[in-house]
Amino acid sequence: MGWGRQRRMLQRQLGSDQRAVVQTCQRNRGACDAKEKAMSLSNNRPPRWRVEMEDALKAAYSFQSGGKAWHSAELAQSLGLAESLGGDIARALIAVGWAQQSEPGKMHLTKTGEARALELIRAHRLWERHLVDREGRSLDAVHGEADHREHEMTPEELEKLDTELGYPAWGPHGQPIPASGEHVSSPAGQPLLQAAIPGSRLRIVRVDEELVELLTQLVVLGLKPGVAVEVLSLAPTLVRLQVGEDVVPLSSDAARHVFVVPAPAQLVPMGELSVGSRAQVVELTGSGKLQRRMLSMGFVPGAEVTVIRQAPLGDPFQYRVKKANIALRRKEANALLVRELHN
Ligand SMILES: [Zn+2]
Repeated sequence: MGWGRQRRMLQRQLGSDQRAVVQTCQRNRGACDAKEKAMSLSNNRPPRWRVEMEDALKAAYSFQSGGKAWHSAELAQSLGLAESLGGDIARALIAVGWAQQSEPGKMHLTKTGEARALELIRAHRLWERHLVDREGRSLDAVHGEADHREHEMTPEELEKLDTELGYPAWGPHGQPIPASGEHVSSPAGQPLLQAAIPGSRLRIVRVDEELVELLTQLVVLGLKPGVAVEVLSLAPTLVRLQVGEDVVPLSSDAARHVFVVPAPAQLVPMGELSVGSRAQVVELTGSGKLQRRMLSMGFVPGAEVTVIRQAPLGDPFQYRVKKANIALRRKEANALLVRELHN
């Protein structure tokens, strides 16, 4: 189906309810094929054109989350389509109110587009969490299914799932889960290959979820978010790691897609730091809700924190993180485990 038609159909659906769409289909038999009609009637699986539009939206969002405008040709390319289709996709996104053109060739998402993209990301990561936590799936067996389910879930279903899972802050691969209506915080950590200095102790915070073969390899090796490793040696094509009792060889290519933060033996709860000291966030603990709040304030693993002052009665403390001053009660601050910096 062409992008022009996808746009018209989505415009119709966004501007009306499901029944009206079906009526439109029935009035104009040539415009909707029977299969799509059956799908939208029989269950809540969205038709293919809607899925394709939303996938394009998500791809655009990932370009934009680096803070820069994007070009329609690069969007088409990232979707595995010919660059020449970029213009059609861009026009379709503009027509449904998800994107705007700031200057010729430069695109960015509107507030509505961003909100829908975030909802899709939230649905994707919550569903993956559900599959791993509740259905016992392995890390390499959830991404594909979540790519489908993200388009099907209603806001009510999402809220219910979030509550059932206890408001998790991270997806199973270590990607942050945004709260409803909130921005997604930037993912933590640097590539293992970059951080691998022999003798260093590191904690895995995230793995690349797109590469299934790599994920399978990591699952077999026991390398997943939350696991601590020590770098034993570094050769041009191989990193040797100590993981618990085992020595694990990892190819340098794979080590580019595993993200880590420093994990020194001595971590302290942030509320125990004295005024004037500096520290680096290593780990977030506590309820998912609290972890999300901390992330949204900038307390991401790897972030540097300075203790600015303490209230006369001892609580709260004021911290400086990412150029913002933030007051936290000691109890909240203790949910962050940090490594003190001395230089
Ligand atoms: Zn995924």
